[in-house]
Amino acid sequence: MNDNPLKISNLAAIDAAHHLHPFSDMGKLNATGTRIIERAEGVFIYDSTGKKYLDAFAGLWCVNIGYGRREMTDAVSRQMNELPYYNAFFGTTTPPATLLAQKIVSHAGPNMNHVFFTNSGSEATDTWFRMARVYWKALGYPTKTHVIARRNGYHGSTVAGASLGGMTWMHEQGNLPIDGVSHIGQPYWYVEGGDLTPAEFGLKVARELDAKIDELGEDNVAAFVAEPIQGAGGVIVPPETYWPEIARICKARNILLVSDEVICGFGRLGSWFGYQHFGYEPDLAPVAKGLSSGYLPIGGVLVSDRVAEVMLTKVGDFNHGFTYSGHPVCAAAALENLRIIEDEGLVERVRDDIGPYFQQGWQSLLDHETVGEAVNVGLIGGLQLTADKATRKRFDKPDDVGTLVRNHCLENGLVMRATGDRMLASPAFTISRSEIDQIIEIVRKGLDHLAHTARI
Ligand SMILES: *Cc1c(COP(=O)(O)O)cnc(C)c1O
Repeated sequence: MNDNPLKISNLAAIDAAHHLHPFSDMGKLNATGTRIIERAEGVFIYDSTGKKYLDAFAGLWCVNIGYGRREMTDAVSRQMNELPYYNAFFGTTTPPATLLAQKIVSHAGPNMNHVFFTNSGSEATDTWFRMARVYWKALGYPTKTHVIARRNGYHGSTVAGASLGGMTWMHEQGNLPIDGVSHIGQPYWYVEGGDLTPAEFGLKVARELDAKIDELGEDNVAAFVAEPIQGAGGVIVPPETYWPEIARICKARNILLVSDEVICGFGRLGSWFGYQHFGYEPDLAPVAKGLSSGYLPIGGVLVSDRVAEVMLTKVGDFNHGFTYSGHPVCAAAALENLRIIEDEGLVERVRDDIGPYFQQGWQSLLDHETVGEAVNVGLIGGLQLTADKATRKRFDKPDDVGTLVRNHCLENGLVMRATGDRMLASPAFTISRSEIDQIIEIVRKGLDHLAHTARI
């Protein structure tokens, strides 16, 4: 690796001196030092000490085709040579941007035929937020501006994204949420369901939407937004009753339904989009992450015919966009990523083969004394840690136990994520069966470590 020009021995010191990391306590981090990831291949990443880790998190829920795909390098370098940049602002476009919009909608269902490009999921959130308000105004409902979201949802880190997200610890920084945003409960049965069955609880939290619309007045509400499965919130899979009731309420109360597909989109659940798995039809659907498998930054908003028709016939200029909306090189990367997913049948692989295999292994962890719930859909998994399985009792310090297990996994060469007392996994679609066996084995060791620590 000595030929790597970026291999500088004092990189950690330079990082501590100059680089502010996202979602990090930099004082603390600089004291322990950052881990420097130098290269990756398949599902493995390698740090600057040469240590190898199995990445069970696909970067940040995004490297769905795995690392080191030369087809991606080739597609990107071809496009860079041909046309590194041009915009889509003044009546122009580029071939990759146009072809990517067509490719995306070919998988999105009959009523979803337009795409607005952004560079990230957060920008996609800001985009649909404005578009929803513009839509209602153009139809003669200028007061329909309020957006309802959920506690413990995640929709990005911009001002609109962090406002719509339901993370109170994010709201505390920067005087959020902004006006016109409010939150209802989440379908997190394990911790919040009490004595209700999951089905009863799913209906109960869905009906909070109805009550919130009553409170705000139907004429003041533009949209409801939710992730099909909450990702950053802890891989929370809603009870079966939840989504049909939400979809029914949005229709009955005439508000737009926004499905945040940033994690669930492009195959993660064994369907092209999360709304297809759960069987509802959103009006707007932000995407990012898996669109390019993280090889280059790109996101967008899928726009249904209902909204597109108004945008095309009643709005005039939509005064919104980014210098890099539809960036040709990022679009070329996304196109190649989607070609790989199609040609290798990766969505079907997640649905019929590697997904069920992963689920079997993940569910086997349920016999562990510290595991209260193991949930999966496709290639996403959440593991609820518990101090007592029978009563669903949490550990005294829920935030610490996840970190304990995650750090133990890391020492054993496995990258997992923890949200409070839930362990999260979302590996690449290309992962092998034996690599999944390794994940399960190392997680089990981490759980043993937790049980041992909890006893002393
Ligand atoms: C990651 C994420 C976002 C934000 O995407 P960025 O690209 O980080 O801005 C939005 N919604 C969901 C569900 C996400 O997981």
